[in-house]
Amino acid sequence: MEQLNSVDRQAAWTRLLEIARRTADEGLIVGTAGNVSVRVGDEILVTPSGIPYDRLGPGDLTAVSPDGRRTAGTLRPTSELPMHLALYAAAPEARAIVHTHAVHATAVSTLVRELPPIHYMTAALGGPVRVAPYARYGSQELAAGMREALRDRSACLLRNHGTMAYGASLDQAYERTALLEWLCRLWLTANSVPGMTPALLDPAEVAAVGEQLRGYGQR
Ligand code: 13P
Ligand code: ZN
Repeated sequence: MEQLNSVDRQAAWTRLLEIARRTADEGLIVGTAGNVSVRVGDEILVTPSGIPYDRLGPGDLTAVSPDGRRTAGTLRPTSELPMHLALYAAAPEARAIVHTHAVHATAVSTLVRELPPIHYMTAALGGPVRVAPYARYGSQELAAGMREALRDRSACLLRNHGTMAYGASLDQAYERTALLEWLCRLWLTANSVPGMTPALLDPAEVAAVGEQLRGYGQR
């Protein structure tokens, strides 16, 4: 077992709370919606269920093992533990997960089975974002649908519910969530002009952009 010292664990918890609060500050959630987790060593730190993020502090660190047994804290972990655990089990590259009820993304989840490729940045999420079928929050059925929707993707929508995105870090999982919400808002905006239909990108173009994005930015 890879043991993480308590300083590293506490630092990861501080970062997790910063990202969780950011989802609230940026309007991606209201109330106690959404949840955030990060993998540290052999543990997964998770937001507790049903508590606003601004009420959580250093003493509320909540952690579980990959099979869902609580390893730290006294608060009940998020009700979406089945989704978080299923995703970590399926994707070794997933180090952090952000789940929100972002409004444009949730609106799109009720309209289509896949977010149409309206912008080249679709490629940054692995391709057109799929919508997992509706299933009750916290259920294994929802977790199974999410896994399928995330095949070769780093984000998906959950029908009539919200977003799921993962990354190599909390920052990356957050940025992908914000990008997904932006893409959904863009598509809804372009699609709302009466009598006009937005132009979409070719799947081959989205795939080519995906390749090009690997070399994007500074060396
Ligand atoms: P928790 O407060 O249990 O994390 O639930 C919020 C949520 O978004 C359920 O889908
Ligand atoms: Zn939710």
